[in-house]
Parts: sequence; C-alpha cells; structure tokens
Amino acid sequence: MPGTLYLVPTPIGNLGDLSRRAAETFAQVDFIAAEDTRVTLKLLNYLGLKKPLVSYYRHNTDQAGQQILDRLLNGESCALCTDAGTPAISDPGEDLVALCAAQEVPVIPLPGPCALVTALSASGLGTARFVFEGFLPMNKKNRRARLEVLAGEERTMLFYEAPHKLTATLADLLAAFGPERRITLCRELTKLHEEIFRTTLAQAVERYQAEAPRGEFVLVVEGAPEDRGESVTLEDGLERVKDLVEKGFSRKDAVRQAAGELGLSRNELYAASVGK
Ligand code: SAM
Repeated sequence: MPGTLYLVPTPIGNLGDLSRRAAETFAQVDFIAAEDTRVTLKLLNYLGLKKPLVSYYRHNTDQAGQQILDRLLNGESCALCTDAGTPAISDPGEDLVALCAAQEVPVIPLPGPCALVTALSASGLGTARFVFEGFLPMNKKNRRARLEVLAGEERTMLFYEAPHKLTATLADLLAAFGPERRITLCRELTKLHEEIFRTTLAQAVERYQAEAPRGEFVLVVEGAPEDRGESVTLEDGLERVKDLVEKGFSRKDAVRQAAGELGLSRNELYAASVGK
C-alpha cells in the first residue's frame, strides 16, 4: 500500500496562522519535503519537532520528485511544504501532485494560508468570479501576449509580483487596462507592515514611481465591466484611438490603451485603425 502525500500550508508571515492540523501532520509523517530545508527547520524548531527533511525546489523537481514518489510507493508518508503559503500554488508541488495522481498515491490537502485568497478577501473588488494569473511572464513578448488575452477579462484578476518588478508591472497593467481600472495592492499580508491599498492603476503607478516598493505584493485588479463586449463596438474603439492620437499617443500605444480600456481585441482594433 502506498503512503500518503500531505500538502501542508505554512504561514505567509504570521506564525499564529499555522494550524494545529498542520503541526500534527508534520509530527505524524515519516519525512518532510521542503522548498528550503533551512526555512522549514526553523518552523520545526518552533514546534519542537525533529523530522527527516528532503529538499524539493524549483530546480530539482524531476530528480527529487521521483525519489519522493518512490518512498511514497514504498509506504512512507510525506508532508510537502514550501517557504510560505500553500504548496503547489505558484510554488513547487504541482509536478509532485501530478506524479502522485498518476500513480494513485493518495494526496491529502490541508487548507491554510494562501496569499491570493487572503488578498482577494480584503480587496473590496468582486469575489464571486476571479482568475488567478500567478506571476506574469518575464519575457516582454509573452507578457504582452498574456495581457492581450486578459484585455476583455471580466473576472477579478490576481497577480503575484516581486517588489523589484512591481513598478514595471504596474506600468504594463496600466497600458493593458487603462488608468481608471481599480486595483488593490495587498502588501506584506499578515505581517507587521501589512497594507491594503485600494486605488486605480494611474494612482498606483504614480505612487510607486515616487517610492521604492518594499515587501511582498499581491495585485488584485478589477475585471472589465460586464457586457462591454456586446455594447462597445469597434467604432467606439476607433473614436478612442483618434482621441488618444490627438493627445500625442503613437497609433500603436493608442490602440493598446483603447483596447485595454474598452475590452476590445488589440489586433482587430489596430487592423481597423490602419484601414481608416
Ligand atoms: N504558495 C504561496 C501562496 O500560497 O500564496 C505563494 C508563493 S509565491 C512563490 C510568492 C508570492 O506570493 C510573492 O511574490 C507574493 O506575490 C505572494 N505573497 C506571499 N506572501 C505574501 C504576503 N505575506 N503578502 C503579500 N503577498 C505575498
């Protein structure tokens, strides 16, 4: 009989958020697979536990994943955790869960801290329907393509971002969705300097051009207004492009901005504007 893989969330800042069940699971399993064994060792010391630790992180998932799977198939149980939050959410773990699923190794997820759900709940934006985008691609072309796909997205969108990339990412979001789109920046959640900044993309860009971003951020961006696709026409888009060109925008930038604001396809709008 195979053992069980437990997915154990750990605090995203506040140790008090570690659940009793998480602590009990660490105590009960045969070994722990951790993103950074040094970080997890500190947590185990805090809990007064000693457990064999193996490393499972982004660059060794193939080799370490197979070794963990073999041990599970031999009947051992394993707790998977990362440095902070829920394993497999923009974290190593997804591949290991897939391996276990393919081999019918039981996987038991524990609910617990997760930056995206914590941010969404306090965002003040729509929570009924949302889409988690994780980190935007770093490559410029792929990033633009991704934002283009999201231009007409009506659900609330969530992004993770590192502080040193925040300013550039906010500028890209502004170009894609327009200056008036609402955004909630959730910074240092559950920590001493926690901040929930509800604003617009224009104001967020302005603030972080003047001030270096510090700490960890989840960005929660309002979706495009519903039924825009039906009521907004290409003609409306062309009007807006004309407007922006008159204000000094290049045609390309005007199209990108108008498409983002109105939830239209950038390619279609560009083609139409060139044909005019
Ligand atoms: N698995 C984690 C989870 O469940 O949220 C996410 C890990 S991902 C590698 C790290 C990103 O999560 C950070 O870059 C940041 O965007 C977000 N994050 C993690 N902790 C946070 C916190 N305390 N406040 C705000 N964002 C946080």
